[in-house]
Amino acid sequence: MDKKSVTVIGGGPGGYVAAIRAAQLGAEVTLIEKKRMGGTCLNIGCIPTKALLDSAHVYHEAGASAGIGVVASPHLDWSMVQERRRSVIDRLVLGVEGLMRTNKIRVLYGLAGFLDPHTVCVNMADGQKQRVSSDFFILATGAEPLVPPIPGAGGDICIDSTAALSLEKVPDSMVIVGGGVIGVELATAYHEFGTKITVVEMAGNILPNMDRTLSEKLKADMEHRGIRIMTGAKVCSFEKKGDMCACCVEQEHTQITLEAETILLCIGRKASLKGLNLEKAGVRAERAILTDAFMRTSAENIYAVGDCNGQLMLAHAASEQGIIAAENCMGGSRSFDGSICPGGVYSFPELAGVGFTEEELREKNISYRAGVFPMAANGRALIYRQDTGMVKVLTGEPYGELLGVHVYGPQATELIAEAALAIKLEATADELIDTIHAHPTLSECVREAALAAQNRAIHTG
Ligand code: FAD
Repeated sequence: MDKKSVTVIGGGPGGYVAAIRAAQLGAEVTLIEKKRMGGTCLNIGCIPTKALLDSAHVYHEAGASAGIGVVASPHLDWSMVQERRRSVIDRLVLGVEGLMRTNKIRVLYGLAGFLDPHTVCVNMADGQKQRVSSDFFILATGAEPLVPPIPGAGGDICIDSTAALSLEKVPDSMVIVGGGVIGVELATAYHEFGTKITVVEMAGNILPNMDRTLSEKLKADMEHRGIRIMTGAKVCSFEKKGDMCACCVEQEHTQITLEAETILLCIGRKASLKGLNLEKAGVRAERAILTDAFMRTSAENIYAVGDCNGQLMLAHAASEQGIIAAENCMGGSRSFDGSICPGGVYSFPELAGVGFTEEELREKNISYRAGVFPMAANGRALIYRQDTGMVKVLTGEPYGELLGVHVYGPQATELIAEAALAIKLEATADELIDTIHAHPTLSECVREAALAAQNRAIHTG
């Protein structure tokens, strides 16, 4: 029997993972990528931001280490910070390219656009055009930064997150428009590098999708460290003022002008659909490509995963959707459930959550109990000199099933994996409590918060 052919468009974590899974299942796979393997995540997203944050964190820690008996006076070598960012990316991209070879995936570099539901034309990097026909397509073209319809936003006054990763020098001052995950992470990093930061957020709080108690705590800690955060503040215009950039901000009916060396726009991302000619393939899209839970688009042989379907805009969600789409191309019938998808903010300290937030439970009228444990009562957190964190566990009534877990503190983005597994397995607070956690670890805080939700707290009053 002929092998099924699967063509993947986009080499990010949605696309390259889909390609590998389809190859594992016996398909003849082609992957088309217009720029560089690894997509946004490896080249201009998750990985470079965390590389910068790690340099920033080590710089901060080295400067603050006298209290533990290590006296150091660090200085910043910005070109080495940048070199290190590039080398981490290069290593990972090489790894993905290697995976394409070992899985016998044909890789074409160029821009793909549909001619009909079974054929794309690839405008190759070398100027040639190549037609690729396939039984199935998996679209994984990602997203690009949104430019708001604000006077001055589209020109060269503001930079986006991509430019912010490779600045020639550390700016003296920066206004960051948008207090979402990317804005908060870059604010944290540049603050530690010495930039005077102002974050302008239109909503009532930064990180509006995260648990409110914990995101407010992060905001207070960022402000305490010297980052200015304006919430409920709307930017009206941007302009150049000599060497400086200015933005006019309206807050509580008052307009003020903020000036900075750099203005960074981080107000969100929109699906990247340019050049795909979706209409020729019968694929429906509004702001993003529309799919069902099986990741299938309106064309029966075409699937769409990751940021281009606009659902979760997270790398791990893109990869999971990629696996599901590949399996469904090969005869499977798996659906994607995004309700148990952890989200993380790699600030100092970190913030992470999975499942429902307290705000969502209230909105949905679901009865719950909340247990909170402060990291100040945990030995390991104190040893890490980070005592402002806390864990919140939300459990259902009357069975005590875990509904949501939210962590603010060191390694929150690692701690959340246990909670994701527990919620996925429909564990109760009692089951989490009965699981012995090693001491001294930060993971004890998750167990302690579950104890608090059951009114059985041991280490808090
Ligand atoms: P992408 O990674 O964007 O890949 C899409 C690929 O498709 C690109 O390589 C593009 O060149 C290619 N392409 C587009 N159109 C075509 C075409 N017509 N033909 C051929 N190729 C095409 N997520 C997290 O989970 N954790 C994080 O810590 C995190 N940090 C982030 C930090 C920043 C600054 C940014 C911008 C994003 C971050 N994200 C993070 C989001 C994450 O990067 C995306 O969710 C993820 O990359 C989406 O994967 P994807 O495969 O859908 O798309």
